[in-house]
Amino acid sequence: MAHRTNVVSVKERVEASDSPREVTDPACGRKINPRDSKNMLFRGDDVIYFCSRECEMNFLNPPKKKAS
Ligand SMILES: [Zn+2]
Repeated sequence: MAHRTNVVSVKERVEASDSPREVTDPACGRKINPRDSKNMLFRGDDVIYFCSRECEMNFLNPPKKKAS
């Protein structure tokens, strides 16, 4: 039997965690299923999910609004 390392894949880690069924994408406010999300961000012990890579980018790098 192959020896397993302690490295757990992101998918396994997410499914093992006590995550809610639906989370809110903080960038656009859409409800998404963490299992369907391919865009996630780890911040310490928290995982932030996004519906798209674009939302992840917007969250990390919010478009600046021009002060008029
Ligand atoms: Zn989104």
